[in-house]
Amino acid sequence: MNQATPILEVRDLSVQHTVAGGTSHEHLEAVRQLSLSVAAGEIIAVVGESGCGKSSLARAMVGLLPASSGEIYFRGAAVSGMDARARKDWRRDTQLLFQDPHSALSPRRRIVQSLAEPLEMLGVKADGEQQQRILSAIAEVNLPIDILQRYPHQLSGGQKQRIALARALLCQPRLIIADEPLSALDVSEQARLLSLFIELRKEKQIAFVLIAHDLAVVQQLADRVAVMYLGRLIELAPADSFFQSAAHPYSQALLQASQSNWHNTPANEPVLTGEPPSALTPPSGCVFHTRCAQVMDLCNRVVPEQQVLNQSETARGLHQVQCHLYSSQ
Ligand code: SF4
Repeated sequence: MNQATPILEVRDLSVQHTVAGGTSHEHLEAVRQLSLSVAAGEIIAVVGESGCGKSSLARAMVGLLPASSGEIYFRGAAVSGMDARARKDWRRDTQLLFQDPHSALSPRRRIVQSLAEPLEMLGVKADGEQQQRILSAIAEVNLPIDILQRYPHQLSGGQKQRIALARALLCQPRLIIADEPLSALDVSEQARLLSLFIELRKEKQIAFVLIAHDLAVVQQLADRVAVMYLGRLIELAPADSFFQSAAHPYSQALLQASQSNWHNTPANEPVLTGEPPSALTPPSGCVFHTRCAQVMDLCNRVVPEQQVLNQSETARGLHQVQCHLYSSQ
């Protein structure tokens, strides 16, 4: 793998869920023909409203959901063509942090036992080596040693999330996919976890895909921002460029809504109204046209192609958007 090879790349990835309805089953396309790559040490934030497909994308990236089409490449190798050993390496090197860290910790096991589990699976069975690696992981997430003898219910939400992170670190991952890891934490615990992510990226070149809804957090942390709507990637931009000049009307609406939250003031005008349409029956043309304040004649007929905005290339990549407003550029 050369320096430029992404740690993880998805190309034209689609993920379908089967939904039981009456006498038949319907297919919901949670992720549709999405392409995205993650470089070593990069932090990409994936944002969008609930149900936009962020979590399905996260799960597909670690192999917990199958791709219905498209391909996932790990360190340049197509996952679909991997033998069992290479697949095991991909699963070990790509770790998932859940919103609720409880799911990674058995309530009946002491923390030290939960931390020994991934080591057992990796074949690290000697007590001495297990102990040394567990102590080192606990130190990396800034927790005291005595926490090892406690049970999950004796820990705060933030401590549990840091234990889940320590568990992931025991696998020496190249990429951590964090699905809303901060949303159940108080502000001080959020700050601690964010600092840890930044340190781990700096010290170990670990890349992060951060599934998030809080744009203030995204602005602090991310190198690039990917915006999803109804399973589509509608904007992808270096974070500076995104926060200075988000291009897609949906991204602009998300930003305006979050800025009015930061300043605790109402938005000037409601730029984003109503709920997203059902992913089972997505609108024709541009899927955002039913809510877009700038909708044009062709928007409900023609799917917009991806456009690269003029002079958008920076060290962190291109600013790309799927919207007819930019078709003539
Ligand atoms: Fe709005 Fe049309 Fe752009 Fe879609 S393509 S975001 S409907 S202007």
